[in-house]
Amino acid sequence: MAAVQVSSPNFTEGREGTAVDRIVIHYIVGTLAAADTTFSDPNSGVSAHYGIGEGEIHQFVDEANTAWHAGDWNFNLRSIGIEHSADPSRAPTQDTYNKSIDLCATICRTYGLDPQSQIVPHSFVVSTDCPGTVDIQAIRDGVSAIL
Ligand SMILES: [Zn+2]
Repeated sequence: MAAVQVSSPNFTEGREGTAVDRIVIHYIVGTLAAADTTFSDPNSGVSAHYGIGEGEIHQFVDEANTAWHAGDWNFNLRSIGIEHSADPSRAPTQDTYNKSIDLCATICRTYGLDPQSQIVPHSFVVSTDCPGTVDIQAIRDGVSAIL
């Protein structure tokens, strides 16, 4: 499924020569519309490459550029960040999982990533509740089943 382009001013051109070797999984704590609002706002200072929810995939930052999502500069340089529509009392829908699995499979093929070890939760990078209600192992296993 083609991603809808939603521009964000919150990114750094290029990756300082760093290769992509991780996908970082996040939850929005809201809907995809909330991510659109936050990532379009230059004052928020945050972004991600992709957001998934409510039947759509939005791309905010080109994969060749560094999005501001991980809370750790080196991890921003080396990773692609994907946001999921969910909150603490609402898990992602099956459609959101399915779209995430397809997107992650494409990214794993493109960069030669192992889904079991190179798709990581935001909480792997810094101390955070993110990705909350997202079942990251379901995403890893779904991607493994495709590859
Ligand atoms: Zn996060």
